[in-house]
Amino acid sequence: METVSLGTSQLQTSRLAYGCWRIAGTWNPSEVTPEKEDIGRRAIIAALEAGYTHFDHADIYCRGHCETLFGQVIKANPSVREEILIATKCGIRFAGEPWSDSPHRYDFSAEHIIASCEGSLKRLHVETIDLFQLHRPDFLMNPEEVADAFNQLMRSGKVREFGVSNFRPSQIAALQKACPMPLLAHQFELSLAKLDALTDGILDQCLTSKLSPLVWSPLGGGVLGSPEISSGQGPRHPVSAHLQETISAIADARGVSRAVIALAWLLKHPSRIVPIIGSTDPKRIAELTRAPEIDLTRDEWYRLLLAARGEKLP
Ligand code: NAP
Repeated sequence: METVSLGTSQLQTSRLAYGCWRIAGTWNPSEVTPEKEDIGRRAIIAALEAGYTHFDHADIYCRGHCETLFGQVIKANPSVREEILIATKCGIRFAGEPWSDSPHRYDFSAEHIIASCEGSLKRLHVETIDLFQLHRPDFLMNPEEVADAFNQLMRSGKVREFGVSNFRPSQIAALQKACPMPLLAHQFELSLAKLDALTDGILDQCLTSKLSPLVWSPLGGGVLGSPEISSGQGPRHPVSAHLQETISAIADARGVSRAVIALAWLLKHPSRIVPIIGSTDPKRIAELTRAPEIDLTRDEWYRLLLAARGEKLP
């Protein structure tokens, strides 16, 4: 698959990243079964075979179990490590940890950032995390304290590069001011089902600060690829019949699937968006790699935008 540089660095990412959020088949470790683990490992192998070289994790995905599954694949195929970019995230803490009355919260203390990184390294079975990201902004973030933690992790070789997720532009600016190393990536939600980042300054900042936009739920949790999805781990946002028809018309004319068109719409943006694919179906994982081949015309791009907005542009 075609690659692009991550931010201003030498690190390369495949044009589509593979997201490991769903590979355990559940959020709850007590519901993991050997069958679900097999599906997850097969999905990782399918992504590797299809040419994805960027794998996105978080310490909280199935409470570390997704990282553990990935670590098992790396342990069984050690030569793969040199060919891929491993990204993970920290900073969200579950209720009840470490104390029974601890609330669900965010924690960017240096102590938690470093402990979380060390836990991920063990589970992922690697010595270095390529891209370490802060998952959701901690209201108590002290930029100097985060910079100090990042410095320690970089100096000790535990992390190569850093990024953030779900931040406001002003929060990134405050953190970047304190950090000696450039932040390389910003991970946020964007799709034809969720347009906010086009207008709230987030994509503008990616362009001006040369941050790589890593986009989560690029298919709106699946609804843009399969309109029949309506609940559970499916769509996060309602999508109009007119948008579904517009995607289908362009997909039919181009001879590709609806999901490929929804991804091509993201790839057209000049900030070089990297959509993070969440399917665990090997056929879909492979088929979606057609998206970088589709260069939508401006007319097609705007027809999709207008259908997604549901109203005219001013
Ligand atoms: P997505 O690609 O929008 O949705 C994937 C889901 O859609 C899967 O359940 C998949 O089911 C389903 N689907 C239905 N029809 C499909 C089709 N035609 N093509 C492809 N998928 C179809 O992405 P996502 O899983 O919501 O998120 C992707 C990644 O983003 C996550 O794995 C995670 O790494 C990251 N993420 C980050 C944050 C954050 O806060 N930073 C939040 C959420 C997610 P099948 O498995 O059956 O194909």
